[in-house]
Amino acid sequence: MEDATVDYLMDNTIGKWDAEMLKGVLIPAEYTCKSGYKFLKDLVENLGDGNQSEEDKNFWKGIWPMEIPNKYKNLLWRACRNSLPTKQNLVRQTIIQSPSCDRCSLQAEDTAEDTLHALWSCTSLNEVWVGDRWNFCSRIRFADFKELCNWVLENGKPLELFAIQVWSIWNQRNKLRLNQPCCLTKELQKMAEDTWNEIRRHNLKLNRFSSSPTHQILWTAPAPDSYKINYAGALSTTDNKSGIGIVVRDYHGEVIASLIQQLDQAYQPVEVEAMAASKAVEFGSELGLQRAIIEGDSAVVVKSLTSKEFGLTPYAQLLNDVSLFSGSYSQLTYSHVKRDGNKVAHSLARLALTIQSFTVWMEDVSSCTLPFVQADLAAL
Ligand SMILES: [Zn+2]
Repeated sequence: MEDATVDYLMDNTIGKWDAEMLKGVLIPAEYTCKSGYKFLKDLVENLGDGNQSEEDKNFWKGIWPMEIPNKYKNLLWRACRNSLPTKQNLVRQTIIQSPSCDRCSLQAEDTAEDTLHALWSCTSLNEVWVGDRWNFCSRIRFADFKELCNWVLENGKPLELFAIQVWSIWNQRNKLRLNQPCCLTKELQKMAEDTWNEIRRHNLKLNRFSSSPTHQILWTAPAPDSYKINYAGALSTTDNKSGIGIVVRDYHGEVIASLIQQLDQAYQPVEVEAMAASKAVEFGSELGLQRAIIEGDSAVVVKSLTSKEFGLTPYAQLLNDVSLFSGSYSQLTYSHVKRDGNKVAHSLARLALTIQSFTVWMEDVSSCTLPFVQADLAAL
């Protein structure tokens, strides 16, 4: 089970995970052109004090420590936020006409496929949610998937197994829709349990060899009237490409916007960092931010930005845009953070190496980056 920890999953299977995301399996809300800026700017203006409740934060804190690969946590989180492309959501977006659940319609029933139905209450899933653990399935009615998740969390049910089973159901549902070979519904529970056991065995082995917790420099939130823009660069000399990742967050640690950009050659590390910093200033300016902290983990670049001695550096022209856009802010400061405090931007920069199109997400990041955002949030 080579992808049984967060890091293994990120490093070894990022290409596969991204492809999954791009197929639209997970995220419906992607913007792939600069015109998204206008929308983002409006969004920033309307966000006010941020919108994540204490309940949401606590809920995520329950999900995040699960020792299972990210893909399971991600799906659970997306399901709770009702951002999976269920048929009902696709109808809402006027992409399809009928919200009827494919599974039930085969059994001559006709129920709209919302998230709760797709993953839990569809009658065809009765053979998946069986046994002592899940016998509340027929007893308790839940208003939505998040309520179900909360119940599982609060009643001491194995949330990890729940997450794996939910993922298996969604994965099988997608394969069925695409006419791809997949297992039978009645086999899903056993397969999820096997996966869970395998992951636990693997974790046990890892924990036995792991050392004591290392000291980490964590991401910190900006002041309430300010935003923090983290940037990072990544390189692939094999593919002769560079990537830039940027994330804008408010004082709650909530993502306001993020972007990735691929560059068609492998620059020097410091050059990519400089270009990422420059893009970060531009992005914040386009979003109409007034006060912002531009934060990266290259000490050299941060020093240049702070001292404004761009002209003396070999990458001077790469920082030109900084002068161009910094004027639109009422306050702009530069900050250096250790790499551990800049994981979200790094994850995005690595993603940029695999995706050619300039991509902006509103109020969101890519699914493979989400765990890093949540880790920062949980540590605030
Ligand atoms: Zn159904």
